[in-house]
Amino acid sequence: MTSQTMTITGPAALLLKNEDVPVRVAVWLAENATKSTFASSLLNGFVRYGSLTQKQVAAVLRIVDAPAPKVAAEPADQMGIYVTLDPSDNGLDIYRVKRSKSSGNLYALRLDPTSGSFEYAPGTIRSLSASDRVTADEAALLGQALGICIVCGATLTDPESVARGIGPVCIKNV
Ligand SMILES: [Zn+2]
Repeated sequence: MTSQTMTITGPAALLLKNEDVPVRVAVWLAENATKSTFASSLLNGFVRYGSLTQKQVAAVLRIVDAPAPKVAAEPADQMGIYVTLDPSDNGLDIYRVKRSKSSGNLYALRLDPTSGSFEYAPGTIRSLSASDRVTADEAALLGQALGICIVCGATLTDPESVARGIGPVCIKNV
């Protein structure tokens, strides 16, 4: 998400000089050449054929000109339990934020109050704010109130675990 000035090199630099291609299309392709297979395939095609088709340009413009998704001002930046107010029903949405071992990126799981399990909520991490994160004590209170382990979502039956809001396995990892 850093917006540093970048030097455009390689095929995207040639695209910039191509009058049929809007500058913002060339810039987007340059910025995403290594992040998006779509961008890299268009650049490869450009190298091969010397031009982009109107359809390809239009497809990039749809991405570039799409309204930016709502992004939290202070994004979630660490693992933990996050709680937000759901404006649709004024209920609490409870999330567990974890870090992917493979990519290192944070992602969010939403607690399904019916099943009591945390389900992966794609893209939701971007709408969570750092200030939505609750302390370990607050998380334990939520676990107690819900009768679940606030770390893994498991239903708690053992009175000691219920009182703690964290299950016997997870307490070892807190
Ligand atoms: Zn647990």
